[in-house]
Amino acid sequence: MMTSHSRIRHPDDPALTELCDELSELTPSLEADDAWPAHQLQQCGRSGVFEWFVDTQWGGQAWNEADVIRGYLRLSAACLTTTFIITQRTAACRRLASTDNAWVRDTCVPALLRGDHFATVGISHLTTSRRHLARPALAATLRDDAVILDGFSPWVTGAAYANWIVIGATLQDDRQVLLAVPRDLPGVVVLPPWRLLGVSASQTGPVTFEQAVVPRKWLLAGPTDNVMQAGAGGTSGGLQTSTLATGLADTAITYLELEGRQRPELERVCQSLRSQWTRLRDDLLEAAGGTGACSAEQLRTRANSLVLRATQSALAAAKGTGYVVSHPVGRWCREALFFLVWSCPQGVLQAGLCELAGLSG
Ligand SMILES: Cc1cc2nc3c(=O)[nH]c(=O)nc-3n(C[C@H](O)[C@H](O)[C@H](O)COP(=O)(O)OP(=O)(O)OC[C@H]3O[C@@H](n4cnc5c(N)ncnc54)[C@H](O)[C@@H]3O)c2cc1C
Repeated sequence: MMTSHSRIRHPDDPALTELCDELSELTPSLEADDAWPAHQLQQCGRSGVFEWFVDTQWGGQAWNEADVIRGYLRLSAACLTTTFIITQRTAACRRLASTDNAWVRDTCVPALLRGDHFATVGISHLTTSRRHLARPALAATLRDDAVILDGFSPWVTGAAYANWIVIGATLQDDRQVLLAVPRDLPGVVVLPPWRLLGVSASQTGPVTFEQAVVPRKWLLAGPTDNVMQAGAGGTSGGLQTSTLATGLADTAITYLELEGRQRPELERVCQSLRSQWTRLRDDLLEAAGGTGACSAEQLRTRANSLVLRATQSALAAAKGTGYVVSHPVGRWCREALFFLVWSCPQGVLQAGLCELAGLSG
């Protein structure tokens, strides 16, 4: 096993191939109970992956969005779980780097870029989770010196490993705040993570806040309406989710292509899936470059459809052998289901349901 990597400076860097080979080799180990990819994240940190997403003025490499997509495609094809965790870490890091609160930025961002600290986000209750309920999941009350949090954030990836959790909460007048909450603050309780259909090693679960007193110095944004739209740093649910689905689809199609070398009946299937994959990748890169004709939602709908079809085609080609738990195709199928639910906008959800129901749209 490789133990050190040189810094990755661009998506065609041979160091990225080296890192992906190692991630791919370690992926099956993440199926174990209580697994957490500490070593994988450490290797990503040493390779400079965490710098891709952060502006040079804060010590990052500031890759452009198309290069980030190229990088994420490679990482997610190698290990979806590690890459998913990196997206949540990055979402937190971007919010911390883009805040006007210089104290928080200087406290958190250098430590995150070094890779020896971890941050995550609990924001879904402001965007795609618990939106149909009358009361906000997590209530905030302002005091002169602090924000009091009461309630819970239903989905927080890697919370038990986080030094800081970027948390959104709602005031009584419906305005919202965004805070960096130290995980060891009194009143912050990380509940045991869910056992999931896939990406269980992301250690995702709820975090409760029992009248937690968060000093005002941790305030990142707000109070304001729609705090997730305020300021820079928010790309959650944009192109990156589609990119990770496309990366996983690549793994499944590559498997089919290898099988197809000895099985001519797979040839047409491989060609069709690969040409859909190539078009999707090109459209993602165009969208990232600002020149594409497809919306983020259209790309996500196509990515969801392709990853489900590609992974299930791989299972069908692997036959009963692929249905044995130790074979990777079953894991890919379970991981593909994640894209039906992760940060899924209503329009994409509806389009997916129509496809499954055999409706035209
Ligand atoms: C593995 C995983 C990791 C995640 N990691 C993170 C993370 O790190 N940070 C983060 O912020 N988010 C994270 N998320 C959250 C994610 O992005 C979505 O917000 C989440 O999947 C939405 O699902 P929900 O069950 O909470 O949705 P909800 O909309 O709350 O649905 C819950 C239930 O409510 C019912 N329901 C839904 N809609 C309606 C309606 N309109 N009327 C009546 N009843 C309804 C249904 O029975 C449904 O099962 C993660 C999700 C998963 C699955």
